[in-house]
Amino acid sequence: MLILKFGGTSVGSAARMKKVAELLQEIPGRKIVVLSAMSGTTNSLVEIANYLFEKKNSIAADLIEGLRAKYYKEVNELFTDDFFKTKGKELVDSHFDFLLTFTQDSFTIHEEKAVLAQGELLSTALFHLYLEEVSKASKLLPALQFMRIDKDLEPDHFYIKENLSRLLNENKSIDLFITQGFICRNVYGEIDNLKRGGSDYSASLIGVAAAADEVQIWTDIDGMHNNDPRVVEKTKPIKNLSFDEAAELAYFGAKILHPSSILPAKDANIPVRLKSTLSPELEGTLITAESSGTGIKAIAAKDGICAIKIKSGRMLLAYGFLRKVFEIFELYKTSIDMITTSEVAVSVTIDDTTNLDQIVDELEEYGKVEVDQEQTIICVVGDFIKKDKGVALNVFQTLKEVPIRMISYGGSNHNISLLVNTSDKNAALTQLNQLFEK
Ligand code: ADP
Ligand code: ASP
Ligand code: MG
Repeated sequence: MLILKFGGTSVGSAARMKKVAELLQEIPGRKIVVLSAMSGTTNSLVEIANYLFEKKNSIAADLIEGLRAKYYKEVNELFTDDFFKTKGKELVDSHFDFLLTFTQDSFTIHEEKAVLAQGELLSTALFHLYLEEVSKASKLLPALQFMRIDKDLEPDHFYIKENLSRLLNENKSIDLFITQGFICRNVYGEIDNLKRGGSDYSASLIGVAAAADEVQIWTDIDGMHNNDPRVVEKTKPIKNLSFDEAAELAYFGAKILHPSSILPAKDANIPVRLKSTLSPELEGTLITAESSGTGIKAIAAKDGICAIKIKSGRMLLAYGFLRKVFEIFELYKTSIDMITTSEVAVSVTIDDTTNLDQIVDELEEYGKVEVDQEQTIICVVGDFIKKDKGVALNVFQTLKEVPIRMISYGGSNHNISLLVNTSDKNAALTQLNQLFEK
C-alpha cells in the first residue's frame, strides 16, 4: 500500500486535478490518496470564520458567494459531460449552502472547525467525481469516519487503525482510495483538524495505520531544499535525509512538511518521499532511518519566537531552580524550544504565547524577567559534532555581521540552533547559504 498526499497547489485548479489523476495512472499498486483543500480555500474559510465571529455576517455571506463562484468555474473546467457538470455544481452548492447557514445565527468554535473542513471535503468530492467521469474506479473514504484526536489533542492511533482497517477490509476489491487530509474528529466526536498544514500529518498517520510501504508527499517543489526557497535564491534539493534530520527541519520552519508529520513514520519505520507534482520526473527527497553524508545538510528558520530571560544570581545555582522554572511552563502547557544558561540567568524560547502574561507573573517570583518578541530560530541541520570539526566555527564566521541572541549546540548530533531578531532572519539565511557554496 502506498499513501500519496497532494497539497493545495497540486489540486489548486481543474487542470492540476487532471494532472494528479494522470500521475496516479503511472503509479502501480493499491493506494490511498490524501488531498488538501484547493490552494487558497482554507485561508478563505479562515477569513469567513473570522467575520462570522465578529458577527459581520453579510461580509461573510459575500465571501462565501465569491468562493462559490470560483468553484463553479473550476467545475466547468474539470468536467466535460453536462451530466457531471450538473453533479459537480450540485456538490459545490451543498457545501456552500451549508456554509451560508452559519450567517443566520451566532457562531461557535466548534462551528469554526466545521467551516474549515469544507475545503478538504470539497476537493476530495470533486476529485472523486472526476475519476468517475474518466471511468477510473475509486472509493471515497471519509476521514471523519477514522481520523481522530484524543483529549490531549494527540492522534488516537488505536481508533485510527481500527477504523481505517475496517473500511479497507470492507473494500478489498478497491485499489484506489481518496480521503481528506487535515480534518478529523475530536474526543467528543465533533469535527476538528490537525492544525494548518496538517494534511502531511494525516498522510503519515494513515501510512502507519495502513502499514504502508511508503508515504509520498507531492507538492509544488522537488523535495526538501537545503535552505528556505522563499528567502534564499540558490537552494538545492536534498536527496536523502534521516527521520531525525527531516523532523528537525520540519519543526524549525521548513514549510514543506507539517512539524509533526515525520514522527509517526519514524516510529513505524515507513519511508517518506517528497516529490514535485509540477516536475514528477525529478528525484525529490527520500526520508528514511539512515543518515547519509556528514557536515551541514540544511538550514531552516522558525518565526514567531519569544525569548524569556530569568535573571537570578541568588537562586540560579541552587538545585531545583530549573525544575521550578520548567514547572511553570508545564503548568501552562507551553513547550520550550531552546534553553541557554549562565551563572546568573537562564533564557528559554517559546512559540506559543497564549499564556505569556501568566507565565511571566509566576516567573517573577524567582527573579527579574525580560521578554523579547519577534525572534527567529535559525536551525542548522546535518550530521556533525562527532565527525566534523569546525562546523560551529564555519557557522559563526559566516554570521559575523548578524547579532545572535542565543546559541544551542550539542543537544543532539544534528542540530545547531541560533536565535536572532526576525528582522535579521533573511540576512542570516542568505549568509549561511555560503556554507553550501564552498
Ligand atoms: P502544500 O500545499 O503542497 O502542502 P506547502 O506550501 O505547505 O505545500 O509546502 C511547500 C512549500 O514549502 C514550498 O513551495 C516552499 O516555498 C516551502 N518551503 C519552505 N522551506 C522549504 C524547504 N526547506 N524545502 C522545500 N520547500 C520549502
Ligand atoms: N488545507 C489545510 C491548510 O491549508 C491543510 C493542508 O493544506 O495541509 O492548512
Ligand atoms: Mg503543506
